[in-house]
Amino acid sequence: MTIVSNYSKQQAITSTNLNIIYNDSDRCDLVKIDPWKNALKQLDDAAKILKLDPGVRDILATPKKVLTVGLPVKMDNGKIKVFTGYRSQHNDFRGPHKGGIRYHPDVTIEEVKALSMWMTWKCAIVDIPLGGGKGGIICDPKRMSAGEKERMTRRYAYAISEIIGPGKDVPAPDVYTTGKEMAQIMDVYSVLHGQGEPAVITGKPLSVGGSLARNVATGLGVAYCVREGAKKIGLKLKGAKVVIQGYGNAGTFSAEYLEKMGAKTIAVSDSKGSIINPKGLDSKKVLEYKNKHGSVVGYPGSKKISTEQLLTTPCDVLVPAALENQITPNIAKKIKCKIIAEAANGPTTPEADEILFKKGIMVIPDILANSGGVCISYLEWVQNLQRYYWTFNEVAGKMEEHIVRGFNDTYNLAKKHKVDMRKGSMVLAVSRVLDSFNARGLWP
Ligand code: NAD
Repeated sequence: MTIVSNYSKQQAITSTNLNIIYNDSDRCDLVKIDPWKNALKQLDDAAKILKLDPGVRDILATPKKVLTVGLPVKMDNGKIKVFTGYRSQHNDFRGPHKGGIRYHPDVTIEEVKALSMWMTWKCAIVDIPLGGGKGGIICDPKRMSAGEKERMTRRYAYAISEIIGPGKDVPAPDVYTTGKEMAQIMDVYSVLHGQGEPAVITGKPLSVGGSLARNVATGLGVAYCVREGAKKIGLKLKGAKVVIQGYGNAGTFSAEYLEKMGAKTIAVSDSKGSIINPKGLDSKKVLEYKNKHGSVVGYPGSKKISTEQLLTTPCDVLVPAALENQITPNIAKKIKCKIIAEAANGPTTPEADEILFKKGIMVIPDILANSGGVCISYLEWVQNLQRYYWTFNEVAGKMEEHIVRGFNDTYNLAKKHKVDMRKGSMVLAVSRVLDSFNARGLWP
């Protein structure tokens, strides 16, 4: 069955195969492959390698709690609109649940569950004492006023307030949510609990307990991973060509820090389209252009290309930093790069993974590549709990240690089991969660 994203439902004009639908804005929307099934397949691959007990596998395959909430919001036209939101808490053997909140028309309960499971593994890989969680609201934030978004956010905070908290579940920003929403959620929680509680949520503005380096964390972490990966395959980063899909927070800082390491960004995209300049794009100037004009499309000196062209442009490093299921088997067959660093969550389908592995492309999996965000979220939470704050370099340095160790542990396990780095990272993550389970035991 083919399901087209809400954004393009009215616009789909032609379908080339079962996987891709193009719309008239020249952006391709891929079939919504159930991310929950992807997540379970990845768990089962690791379970097979680790010869996991079936009962323990079932514990890990079942989120601890999934809450669905109805959110009545008074819109600017005076009418009430009820939004649906979710919060999935996958596993907390290693510590409180941790994971972002996303606003998007395509949010589904399966997606939120999958993202919460990936957070469990991600925290384990970089060895931080937190578990997996994720939240989302089905909404179109681009068509809502600031007031409507704030009323929806505050209602969501109220609806999930009983299951979140510094020792229970600590949310963070994700697609189309920012520090602004995090501060609003912290405010609601603090009002309900009669005291200011910054440690309930991370990704906050500095003025309410946010951490330095948080805004650059994911992109900086991606750059650290690419640097470590380049060392392993003997790729010189100086002059290496980089392509970025999704020019938001994760994508722009990946480009900026890779450029600082000597690489050259040649193509980028956002939800309105993709652009290329083989001579190189200045990532900061592209961002300025996007902020002024609403899209990277039209950036002076660049040429507009399709999403498929962007993903299959010959380059050294490809950074998918948009949404899930962007690299399908059809795209994977045509990809010409040396390293794929998954800034986005779940951008590669399992079938595409196998193709990329056979082609010898190093795929640095999402749960490792984009773990900079959660590393600094963790460090923000620690700073909030101890009410003592570190400098940018202290925070970035602590993050680098976690990521470099996570990268090497993953790489070594992948080599040992002769599997790709996604399976290597899953084996690492599942065995670390298992260690906690074995130490704690099953109650009663
Ligand atoms: P963001 O909202 O800042 O940016 C998303 C970008 O993707 C926007 O520029 C948007 O225009 C673009 N986009 C949307 N649909 C697209 C499409 N079909 N094709 C091309 N571009 C498209 O979000 P973000 O925080 O940068 O998150 C991006 C991805 O990274 C998500 O998968 C998110 O889960 C993951 N991630 C982000 C962080 C973080 O700290 N920001 C941490 C971990 C993972």
